[in-house]
Amino acid sequence: EVRVRFAPSPTGALHIGGVRTALYNYLLARQHGGTMILRVEDTDQTRFVPGAEEYILKSLEWVGIKIDEGVGVGGPHAPYRQSERKPMYMQYALQLINEGHAYYAFDTEQELEAMRERLKTAGVASPQYNSITRTQMRNSLTLPEDEVRALLDAGTPYVIRLKVPRKEEVRLNDLIRGWVMVHSSQIDDKVLMKSDGMPTYHLANVVDDYLMKISHVIRGEEWLPSAPLHVLLYKYLGWENEMPQFAHLPLLLKPDGNGKLSKRDADQLGFPIFPLTWKDPNTGEVASGYKESGYLPDALINFLAFLGWNPGTTQEIFSMEELIKAFSIERIGKAGTKFDIHKAQWFNQQYLRAKPDAELANYLLESLERENIECSFEKATQIAVLMKERATFPKDFWAQGQFFFHAPTQFEEGVVSKKWNDDAVKVLTAFKDAVAAAEPFDANVAKATLEQVTSTLGIGTGKIMQALRVSLTGAGAGPDLMIIMEIIGKNEVVKRIDYALQ
Ligand code: GLU
Repeated sequence: EVRVRFAPSPTGALHIGGVRTALYNYLLARQHGGTMILRVEDTDQTRFVPGAEEYILKSLEWVGIKIDEGVGVGGPHAPYRQSERKPMYMQYALQLINEGHAYYAFDTEQELEAMRERLKTAGVASPQYNSITRTQMRNSLTLPEDEVRALLDAGTPYVIRLKVPRKEEVRLNDLIRGWVMVHSSQIDDKVLMKSDGMPTYHLANVVDDYLMKISHVIRGEEWLPSAPLHVLLYKYLGWENEMPQFAHLPLLLKPDGNGKLSKRDADQLGFPIFPLTWKDPNTGEVASGYKESGYLPDALINFLAFLGWNPGTTQEIFSMEELIKAFSIERIGKAGTKFDIHKAQWFNQQYLRAKPDAELANYLLESLERENIECSFEKATQIAVLMKERATFPKDFWAQGQFFFHAPTQFEEGVVSKKWNDDAVKVLTAFKDAVAAAEPFDANVAKATLEQVTSTLGIGTGKIMQALRVSLTGAGAGPDLMIIMEIIGKNEVVKRIDYALQ
């Protein structure tokens, strides 16, 4: 049975890369009729941020990732918040101690600091608490048994550390990277239980993955260095045969490929890095979200799916259902993926223009309501249909279609001086008079009238089109001008040309 988990720590807003991780887990679960679990890893209480968990739940809901089991839903392995599972971890740490794979360490912060200093002076770049240095420290491997007992009985603060062997190849077969080999001398004696009685990420993560019967651990590449340690834990706890399969996802890189996309870059990048707008409860700073920036959840999902995975065909547009069918871990790449916001915009355009006209009309009507402008549904639909090939975001219907409601008073610079010639003035004057007399008036009449005027005056339409467009819309480019004239109506056409000719 496929059982996967998304295991965020509530230390702030969910990074967009986290949404991708959740998505890949979800796709695998759905494809195999498996279970998607949400586990909140909140054992580091110093990094806890209020509101973060709620934000994560809301974000997943917005993009359409449904949780089968976990925080907010419940399930057979509840609770799913690690802080609430606190009493469950100690027994495993004690089991490791009893079997000689872990030990108590009583070193104070000062003692640890002194050890690091000593090693640095001796030329060790990154000092570790390991098979060599542990022999000099105060722990249950160096102290006599009765002293250890006495210290424990006296309530002396301690941590429990993993006893990592000195010489051992630790191997794991990652579904994306293949065999990963690490020598145990590179792993330090990680703390498993902290002095506050909380497990560390490593212990809690492994214990919970085991207890929750997780089949696949799909997570970001930043966790790859921890994986060998987790393999050791599975082995020492006697769970080697239940060890999940690992898949470490490629990094998401900044658009220029220079380093990974991190929360800290949020401001400089010029595009959102969070799914929903997030207000940091500590600093009060607000970072904009994809939702509030006008991205459609399906488009964002489609975009994220392609950041690291591809279907091996030329098809680019995939609904969630299609992604569930097409997804496979084998087609996830190893190399970091550049985050290309233009591609996200492209997906948004595709999804936007595929929406029913009535929905697009409503986007425009929402903006108009805010502007206190009245408009019939029919007219809004006409405008939306005309504008949709040019819109990237729902707000664009208003942003780019304001000229339907406000006559231009300023004309796009450059366009005017270059294209406004005597011919244009002649044609516009004659055209305006002809339009005033036309009855009824629509796009076809406008077109026929213009053709008639230009041929009578012997002036090519191409020479005056820009001038006409600028007079009517203020800009040098836009959608079909004849339809624009039909929508704004003949009186407005006449009025606007008059104004432009002044
Ligand atoms: N709590 C870890 C995080 O915040 C989860 C890592 C994992 O999936 O093992 O990313």
